[in-house]
Amino acid sequence: MTDQISALAAELRELLGDEGVSLQDAALDRASVDGARLSPILVEQMPLGRAELVAWPTSAELIAKTVAAAVRHQVPITPRGKGTGNYGQAIPMSGGLVLDTTRARSIVEIGDGYAVVEAGVAMAAIEHAANATGQQILLYPSTANSSIGGFLSGGSGGTGSIRHGMLHHGFALALDVVHARPDAELQHFEGEAAEPYIHNYGTAGIIARAKVKLEPLQPWRGFFASFPTYEQALSVIRPFAQLKPTPRLVSADPVTLAEALPSDPGIPAGRSSLRAILDEASLEAATALVLEAGGRIEDVREGTQAMLKISRISYNHPIEWLQKAFPGKYFHVEVAGDALVDRIHEVEQVYFGGMLHIEAQKDRPIGMLAGIYSSAEEVYAGFDRLTELGVGFHNCHQWYVDYQPERTAELARTTDPQGLLNPGKLKQDVKVRTGRQG
Ligand SMILES: Cc1cc2nc3c(=O)[nH]c(=O)nc-3n(C[C@H](O)[C@H](O)[C@H](O)COP(=O)(O)OP(=O)(O)OC[C@H]3O[C@@H](n4cnc5c(N)ncnc54)[C@H](O)[C@@H]3O)c2cc1C
Repeated sequence: MTDQISALAAELRELLGDEGVSLQDAALDRASVDGARLSPILVEQMPLGRAELVAWPTSAELIAKTVAAAVRHQVPITPRGKGTGNYGQAIPMSGGLVLDTTRARSIVEIGDGYAVVEAGVAMAAIEHAANATGQQILLYPSTANSSIGGFLSGGSGGTGSIRHGMLHHGFALALDVVHARPDAELQHFEGEAAEPYIHNYGTAGIIARAKVKLEPLQPWRGFFASFPTYEQALSVIRPFAQLKPTPRLVSADPVTLAEALPSDPGIPAGRSSLRAILDEASLEAATALVLEAGGRIEDVREGTQAMLKISRISYNHPIEWLQKAFPGKYFHVEVAGDALVDRIHEVEQVYFGGMLHIEAQKDRPIGMLAGIYSSAEEVYAGFDRLTELGVGFHNCHQWYVDYQPERTAELARTTDPQGLLNPGKLKQDVKVRTGRQG
C-alpha cells in the first residue's frame, strides 16, 4: 500500500468511521468488477484495474468530503453505484479509491412531479416511493436495483423510454455534483446546466444528489403473449409502440432467447415471447393486435412487482440469461433501426448464430443482437454489414465515454484539472458509436 493510500484511509476513517472504509481484499475485489462480464471482448482484457481502498459515504455531503480528501491526497476516485454498468465503466483502471455511493440512500423529498434522492438510492426504491404518492418515475433501467447516480452516469434508458426517450430527454431536473477539488462542495446545476454531467461515467463530476421528474401513476398491466414464430411477434412491435396510452415497455424474443429466460408460465416453451407493460386502457387494442398476428395472450398481471419482473427481463437481460444457459458462447451488439423488423433475416445473418432481442421505441425499434463469439475482429467486422443494412449500432465492448466525449473532456479540464475522476475513461477520438440508444 502506498503512503498516499494509507494517509487517505486514515483520514476517511475519521470522516466515515471504521465501517465506512475498507482495505480488505474481498471488498477491493468486489469494487473492481462490474457488468462488463457481458462482453467477451472486455473479459479477455481483464483484470482492467483493482481498487486500493473502498469508501462508503452515507450522505451527499459526505460524498463531497470524501472526494475532497482523495483530491488532497492525489488519489484517483472511481465512483460506483451497484456496479451493473456493462462496459467496464466502474472498473478503477488506475487503482486508487472506489467511492461506493450505495449507503448514501436517502429519499430526501417526493414532491408534486419530482423526487429528490441521494446518489445511492435504487431505481426501484424511487418507483415504490413515487407510487405511494400516486406518481411514477419517468424511466428506470432493467437493472431496477441499480442506483440513480449510476443510471444517470452510465445508463441510457429502459422502462418508460417508448414515451420519454432516453436519459438526456428531460429526466433529470437538477443535480448536486462534486468536482475534484481539495475543498470540494456540492454544486447545484439545473436543467441544461446539469445535462453535461449525464452519461459520462463520473469523469467530469460525481453526482451526489439528483432531482428527477415524476408523472401521475398509470394503471399498468403486465401483458404476456406468445407466437408460433418470431416474425409474428416482430410484426406487432411497431403497432404496439403506437398504442394509446403509450406502453411503458414492449420486449420480444425468438424461441431460443425466450427459453433462456427464467421459467414463467407467461413464457411458454417452443414459442416466441412478447412481454409488455401496458396501460389498462390499451389492453383491448393490444389483444386485438396479438390475435390478428396469430398469437395468443398468456397472462395479464397487476402490481408494481409484476411490472418490475417484466422490466428485469428486458434490454440486456435476455442476453445475460442466454449467457447463463450457454456459458462462454455468446456476445451481443446494441442495435437500432426499422431493419430489425423489416430485414430480420439479414440482420440475424450478420453474425454466426445471430438472434435478436427487440424493444419497441417511439421512432424505431432497438435491440440486442446476439451471436456466437469467435474473436473481437469478427464482432467489429459485422459493424460494416450492419451499417449497410441501415442498422445503427453501439459498440458495447469498450469503456471510453462515447457520448459527447469532447464536451466532457472540455468540462473535465476545469472540474477535474488533475484527471483524478475515473481515470482511463476519457479519450478524444472515440468514433465507434453510430446508433446510440441513449
Ligand atoms: C443485464 C444488464 C441489463 C442492463 N439493462 C440496462 C437498461 O435497461 N438500461 C440502461 O440504461 N442500462 C442498462 N444496463 C447498464 C447498467 O445497468 C446501467 O448503466 C445502470 O443503471 C448503472 O447503475 P449502477 O448503479 O449499477 O452503476 P455503476 O455500474 O456502479 O456505475 C455506472 C457508471 O457510472 C459511474 N457512477 C456511478 N455512480 C456515480 C455517481 N454517483 N456519480 C458519477 N458517476 C457515477 C461509474 O463510475 C460508472 O462509470 C444493464 C446492464 C446489465 C449488465
